[in-house]
Amino acid sequence: MTALMDSGSNRRRGNDFPVLVVSQDYELFFRRSGSIEKCLIEPTDMLLDFADRSGIRITFFVDAGMLCRMRQLSVSNPSMARDLSRIEQHVRSIHTRGHEIGLHIHPHWEDTRWVENAWDFAGTRYQLRDFTTEEVSDVVSRYTASLNEICDGNVSTFRAGGFCIEPFDLLRGPLLENGITVDSSIVPGARLDDDDKGINFTAAPTNSWWQFDESPLQPSKNGPFLEIPITPVVLPFYHYWGRAIDRILGRQPAGVVGDGSSKAIGKREIIRRLAGAGRVSELSIDLAKAPQLVAASVRRQDRKVWQVMGHPKLLGKVSLDLLQRFVDRKGVRHFESISGLASAIRAGELSAGED
Ligand SMILES: [Zn+2]
Repeated sequence: MTALMDSGSNRRRGNDFPVLVVSQDYELFFRRSGSIEKCLIEPTDMLLDFADRSGIRITFFVDAGMLCRMRQLSVSNPSMARDLSRIEQHVRSIHTRGHEIGLHIHPHWEDTRWVENAWDFAGTRYQLRDFTTEEVSDVVSRYTASLNEICDGNVSTFRAGGFCIEPFDLLRGPLLENGITVDSSIVPGARLDDDDKGINFTAAPTNSWWQFDESPLQPSKNGPFLEIPITPVVLPFYHYWGRAIDRILGRQPAGVVGDGSSKAIGKREIIRRLAGAGRVSELSIDLAKAPQLVAASVRRQDRKVWQVMGHPKLLGKVSLDLLQRFVDRKGVRHFESISGLASAIRAGELSAGED
């Protein structure tokens, strides 16, 4: 493999803005899990073929808790062992095709049970703040090791499940101990009112990147961590009216590849969304959100760095067409993985600095 592939970056483009970062959370659904084939393998392969054609390097945040839980159960369950081996081989193939593997933590896997050939997520703890300091340290170390085993010890980037990165003091030490110094959990301006899944990033910086130490919401010039935020977008209020029925029924919009259903959000947040004039969300190639990539509010924006995220399970074929239209309209020729962008920033190669 060449050095170019290793860094997940295309340095020949130098300081050529805008830079596009594409990231994906590689995971099953958390209400009805859906199948490995439809939620992970098939949509990811579709995306990788697209990336081969367009030269895009993608960072895949792999839900390592799923791997660790499957490994525990594989001891007495041969069919689970086969599924695990299939996923591990697939993640390895993502890495060998030149994309990045990052750490994604959904700690509810610690409590998840396998009942009558299906995952049972009932009563599981969704956020790390529900675990002790020792448990968090153990989770971060085991989960990181499971990914480092697959991709030759290259894991250096992190995204919190559901963006639930606060309180960061729980994670700070364990991440440093495991060599992870780049985070991508912040969507500046986003807020979600929910007892389980709540986040509040209304006070986050709006720069393309920043260093931090105690909290990703507080820049600190010489902090050991680098934040590469996900690009925010204001979704119009009618987006939620269109999605409300799907949400209530726990189903996905037509055309989505994944065959499971998402963890419910509480009534309070649903009402807030339906009543509001719009809401800050992450820019995404998930089928339901991908039309925003070509919406006027995004077209008018002038940014140095764009980060578009998504989930293989929520992709549709149209997602890729819309991403291509976004790349063409913005004239993007410079693609980076998250660690590739972080290396370029830390090496001072992006001379424009924080904007
Ligand atoms: Zn996730």
